[in-house]
Amino acid sequence: MPDEPVLDVRNLSVSFTRRSLIPGRRRTSLVVDDVDLTVHKGRTLGLVGESGSGKSTTAKAIVRLVDAQAGEVRLNGVDLLSLRGEALKRARRSVQMVFQDPYSSLDPTMTITECIAEPLTVHRIGDRASRVTAVLDLLDQVGLPRSMADLMPSQLSGGQRQRVAIARAICLHPDLVLCDEPVSALDVSTQNRILQMLTDLRASHGISFVLISHNLAAVQQLADDVAVMYCGTIVERGPAQVVTADPKHPYTRALVSAVPYPDPEVQRTRTRVVLTGDPANPADRPPGCVFQGRCPEVMPVCRSVVPRLADDGTGRSIACHLYEPAPAPQSAPQAQPHNGAGPVRKLRPDTAGKGR
Ligand code: SF4
Repeated sequence: MPDEPVLDVRNLSVSFTRRSLIPGRRRTSLVVDDVDLTVHKGRTLGLVGESGSGKSTTAKAIVRLVDAQAGEVRLNGVDLLSLRGEALKRARRSVQMVFQDPYSSLDPTMTITECIAEPLTVHRIGDRASRVTAVLDLLDQVGLPRSMADLMPSQLSGGQRQRVAIARAICLHPDLVLCDEPVSALDVSTQNRILQMLTDLRASHGISFVLISHNLAAVQQLADDVAVMYCGTIVERGPAQVVTADPKHPYTRALVSAVPYPDPEVQRTRTRVVLTGDPANPADRPPGCVFQGRCPEVMPVCRSVVPRLADDGTGRSIACHLYEPAPAPQSAPQAQPHNGAGPVRKLRPDTAGKGR
């Protein structure tokens, strides 16, 4: 794995301010709170969480479709948030986005050729003949017949439109593609084919992907690493195999338990963790842990102290007081600060002072 990540997001925060119903007042929602993410070349990061957890806003802040209030978004070492004008336009060629809805993401007045070639036209790359050649090649790569080049988006199925959207995203040979729920509007067999196509493109082009999804099963199929988001914060992240095989954070455990297991015998032995209560409101974040209102293992400390992401020594990080950093040895000159840098140990909730 190369040392320099393709994408390195540090302390990213995004908030939205809206007018309150009370005249003269405004409400601020912190929808992305101090998020760190890293993606290396040719790897896929799955960003998982419920609707409203801040996944899409994180992606839009990375590609500068919404403004971030704080943080850094380094693409190949260059901070996108500091760029303006032509420099930003040039950098944007390296990062593309595929949106959720294949029915609205393509301009209905353009032919498929015009849709796919649009980024080439915007960046004034090549002449008309070379763009048409590039489009035909891209249709091959995404598994669509060349005869579709002159059709309109309305003449294609949802899966075919999403392939067109992916062809458009890769036409500038980006280093990174962010796919926001790319298969959630499609039927299951089409979902699998699109995910397989993304896997093939990653292998053939060395593109890195961020796959945003509420569907952990889809992420498991493609992602090397996974980050779980809840109410704008990352609550657990690490290698996808590790996190999905042995989830630690109570929210991740609930998400994993909801994924059906292919073997019906094994599925019968599994226990589904059903969360009660509503997701936390970003406009009214509780003090302490944002998951406290739904957590089956909530403790008194969770009501007042924000848990920080802490590395468990295996490359996985968890933000939960059940996995506090291990205390420093007695002989150490200073106690280990709770800054996410130290190893973690598991505290049993019953010995940790469970409270309601
Ligand atoms: Fe649950 Fe507390 Fe962990 Fe939050 S910090 S997930 S409330 S145990």
